[in-house]
Parts: sequence; C-alpha cells; structure tokens
Amino acid sequence: MTSAKPGIVPPGESGGMIRLSHNESAYGPSPEAVAAYRSVAGRLNRYPDGAQYELRRALADVHKLDIDRIICGSGSEELLGLLIRAYLAEGDGLLLTEHHFTMCSVYGRTQGVNITQVPVDDYRINIAAILEQVSAGTRMVIIANPNVPAGTCLDGDEIRELHNGLPGDVLLVIDGAYMEYAAPVVAAGCIDLAGTSGNVVMTRTFSKIYGLAGLRIGWAYCPAPVAGVLQRIRSPFNTNSAALAAAAAAVRDSGYIDGIRERNAASLRRISTALAAAGLRVIPGVANFYLVSFAGREGKNAAGAAGYLQSRNIMPRPVNPADSGNVLRITVGKDSENDAVIAALTEYMTKKE
Ligand SMILES: *Cc1c(COP(=O)(O)O)cnc(C)c1O
Repeated sequence: MTSAKPGIVPPGESGGMIRLSHNESAYGPSPEAVAAYRSVAGRLNRYPDGAQYELRRALADVHKLDIDRIICGSGSEELLGLLIRAYLAEGDGLLLTEHHFTMCSVYGRTQGVNITQVPVDDYRINIAAILEQVSAGTRMVIIANPNVPAGTCLDGDEIRELHNGLPGDVLLVIDGAYMEYAAPVVAAGCIDLAGTSGNVVMTRTFSKIYGLAGLRIGWAYCPAPVAGVLQRIRSPFNTNSAALAAAAAAVRDSGYIDGIRERNAASLRRISTALAAAGLRVIPGVANFYLVSFAGREGKNAAGAAGYLQSRNIMPRPVNPADSGNVLRITVGKDSENDAVIAALTEYMTKKE
C-alpha cells in the first residue's frame, strides 16, 4: 500500500476513490512503453542522453518531422515555462484565453508579464476576440487546442485564420496536451503550421493519451531559431532515462494510441447521451474529459453535484468558486467508472432535496 500525504488522494485504485480530476489516462500506457521503462533499470548509474536522441528520432519518424526542431522537456509544462522565460520580459503582453493551462499564467506572472485573458464563446475559443486584443506590446499568444475545460477544438482552418491575423513577431504557442484525441487532420494542420511558419510552436505531452503522466515528459516542435533558443536554455539533463525510453516506445506503438482515441470518443458519446437523458448538458468536446453544465437546472448546481459524486467515492475536478459557469469537469474513465458517474449524476438530478 502506498501512504498518501493528508489531503492528497492517490490515483486510481490505491486511494479507494475513482479519481477523475486530473485528465489522466484511464487505460494506462502502451505495454511497449512499460517494457522500455523497465529496460532502463540496469543502467540507472548513467546520466540520461542529453541529446534526447532516441525520443526525438521516434517523434521525427512517426510524425514526419525535422528532428533538429524537436525539443523534449520534463512535461510540456517545462517547455511552456521555458518559452515564456525566453521570449517574454517584464511588461510584455501575453494573451491567454479565459480558461487556460494554469501554469501559463503562473509563469507569466513570475516574469512580470502583462496577461490578458480573452473571453471564450460557450467554452469555444473566439479567434476574432483574440485578434482584437493584439496590441503593439503583445509578444505571445498561447491557446490550448483542444482547449480546457470542455475539450472544444479549433480545426486547421481556424488555427490558420488566427495565425494569419497575428503580426509576424508575435509567437503563437499551441498547447497540444490533448491533440492526439482530436481528429488526426487537426494535429497535422498544427504540425504543418509549426513546420512552415517562423512564429508557431506546438507543445505536446505524454501525460494524457499516452498515460505516462508520472514520468514527466513532453515535447515541442518549433521553428529552427526557437528550437535553438530552447536548446541553449534548457538544463542538459532535463529529461530522465526512463521517461525518454518509455516515451520513444510509446510513440512507435501508434496503433495503441489510435485504439484509445476510438475508445475515448465512444465513451464520450455514451456519457453525453446518458447525461442528456438525466436532464444535463455536456458541452461538446473531443478530449478525455467533459464539462457538465448545471445552468438553468433548478435546485441543482455543480458544487452540489461534486459533493454528491464525492459521497459516492468519485472525485471530479474541484469546482472553482470564482468560476461563474456552474459547470463540472470530469475525466473520462474506464467503462465501469463512467457507469458510476452516470448513475450518481442521474440520482443527483432525480433526488428531492
Ligand atoms: C496536462 C496539461 C498540460 C501539461 O501537462 P504536462 O504533464 O506538463 O505535459 C498542458 N496544458 C494543458 C491544457 C493540460 O491539461
């Protein structure tokens, strides 16, 4: 048994709770990734490969990329932080969307950056609203695609429209933490843009669909000068041997990921239909989580539903009291876990106070 610090619920079975708060993979990593991870055990006395060659080679081969423009990090979080530190100084403008990956505003604030949060439209990124906010001081725009907290996704044309509207000296960072869940054509569009323009970076992670969150490994595809900057400022051993080996094997086992994308999409459809039958609205998204709206549901609300789920040993993402949306974000789990959520929310909606 693992012992947990008070207040921290360990993931999965070990905590006795169904943890659906962190958008972790319900299915775990590819068996090939686990085997590669184990194979590192015999050489833990050695430093990791500072050139990250094996993983960059795998990414370049599988996604047809220029290997020199791939940089790996300790989670994509590290790469987002490096980009913000490298390209933004005090007083520079950073545009984020109303909901965004929290570490982007944390890193931005640490740099003394001027952050503007652009409102979204029913949880969908509004390109015109972003472009309206661009000013002479704007240096960087970061969007997550698919976005949090609903998993809504811009298609390739929409991303190109955003890029076309930005001045060439503004860096557009596409946080693709959930990109593998989107239609492959969306990922291809983002890769193409990062590959052909001088001011687009795409970050990706192994924490979500690849099921390797515990190893902390992500990557970025960048214009050559940006890759050069990240190479110079990253720590030489920012990624560890186990993470590099497991991630390389995971990338090469692309069939495993295709299977998860399909299972996830089927689960999302099933959950949305069941929750609609219970009188709830699920905002349409494509990622491995969903946003349930309690707006206009008399006597019912997100905080009440979260409490009800917790009483059934299900942990959704905690409701942010500052969020006026009356919404609850829940990770897609295994079928039995999704069944438990559906049953609990259906009960919550039908019970009299
Ligand atoms: C999980 C997540 C990340 C980063 O995850 P890492 O584990 O640091 O790779 C980035 N953006 C969003 C929107 C996320 O949900």
